[in-house]
Amino acid sequence: MSVGAARGAQDRASMSPVAGGPSVSGFLAASTAQIVHALDEWIRIPSVAADPERTADMLRSARWLRRRLRDAGLSSRLLRSGESAAVYAEWLVDPDLPTVLVYSHHDVRHAKAEEWHVTSPFAPTVRDNRLFGRGASDAKGQVMAHLWGLRAHLAATGRNQPAVNLKLLVEGEEEIGSPHLAELLDRHRTELSCDIIVFSDTVQWQREAPAVVTSMRGVITGSLSITGAARDLHSGAVSGAAVNATHVLAEVVGGLHDAEGRVTLPGFYDDVAPLTPERREELAELPYDDDSWTARTETRGVTGEAGYTVPERLWERPSIEVLSLLAGDPEGIARAVIPATAQAGLSIRTVPNQKIATVAEQLREYVRQRTPETVTYSLEVDEELSQPPYVTRRGVALDCLERAIAAGFERPTGLRMGNAGGGPADLLARTLDADVLFLGTGLPEDHWHAGDESIDIDMLLRGAASIAHLWSELGAMRPADLR
Ligand SMILES: [Zn+2]
Repeated sequence: MSVGAARGAQDRASMSPVAGGPSVSGFLAASTAQIVHALDEWIRIPSVAADPERTADMLRSARWLRRRLRDAGLSSRLLRSGESAAVYAEWLVDPDLPTVLVYSHHDVRHAKAEEWHVTSPFAPTVRDNRLFGRGASDAKGQVMAHLWGLRAHLAATGRNQPAVNLKLLVEGEEEIGSPHLAELLDRHRTELSCDIIVFSDTVQWQREAPAVVTSMRGVITGSLSITGAARDLHSGAVSGAAVNATHVLAEVVGGLHDAEGRVTLPGFYDDVAPLTPERREELAELPYDDDSWTARTETRGVTGEAGYTVPERLWERPSIEVLSLLAGDPEGIARAVIPATAQAGLSIRTVPNQKIATVAEQLREYVRQRTPETVTYSLEVDEELSQPPYVTRRGVALDCLERAIAAGFERPTGLRMGNAGGGPADLLARTLDADVLFLGTGLPEDHWHAGDESIDIDMLLRGAASIAHLWSELGAMRPADLR
């Protein structure tokens, strides 16, 4: 169906505000205090992923969300996933309308109290029009954008039910790699069936330059442990003559990149889908400069693969990072010993055509080649919890999203970007046999997973407004057009 024909179908899903009723943005502006209050309340429940002491809080968080979903008009239930709880909610209107499944999560990352300066992680504070607290942006704020986006959609269109059949899956294990999501999707495949998936756990480019995310990188994690001695050795006794696991590990991780910033795993780039001239052009249109990007991300400098711009490095090229190094006595009283073992945590971001098993083998081969016979090592690659990349298909659904974001941010868009981090987009798309659209309300400066996480309240409102418009846009389509 052409966009023109789709427009003709809009009697079913009028976007024009009801006479005398509020506009989407007017409704959200008038509701700001309530939205912030609700998010504040939810953040106070420390639903920390995979923390046995927080299992009860995880359930509390799920129950809190169910109450809020009920207030917004959805029926819901808890779905168990491992030790955690996912919330499933729905509002089914008419089988002839498109069915949308929203995916997000209510678990949050562990918070190190000493890294929080504005407020403590579970006692939110508003400062400079930002709400600070763990999960404010990743991803409780994104779920709140859905709750209030739905309300704004109903208020502004004068409807008593949404323009689409709505399903929401808010899981409780995203931050630990969604270990039970595949099983959950499989078990509830019929219930979760849909024409399109809206994935809300991503960031936007800039408040003033909204862009549509059309790709997500994959992720593979691993850990390397090198052993140089049977036990820690008194450095005074053996220094200068005994092999030091720390030095060997430093050489192995130091060799992961060449002087051009290219990853040195053998064959690493062989399968990488070449960057198309069209994608290069799209990304080149984003307003970008090193200074503002380093300021926003609070990094000291730009690095990476020669021959590619920073947006290309972030979203279109694969990467490898050392996320942790552990050896010796990093805390407490030093014992003047050469550590017997040294460990590194590794994270690989993958792009289309790279296969998990192949990349895992390339990492194993690299470590094999680079590790001298004077040490032993073990390398664990978590293939089970690895996530493949995802690219959104161009078509009617993406056009709907583009128009909804333009309306929600009240400015023409047309800009495209990617999402540097991973997530279960590919898993959702494959299991439910539906395309994924990305619609997130975070910003790169939100400090996800780190101290002083916050969400820009304007972004929250604009995200909610985009969602309100998206239900009208998708509701004007026939289900078959979205598939
Ligand atoms: Zn997240």
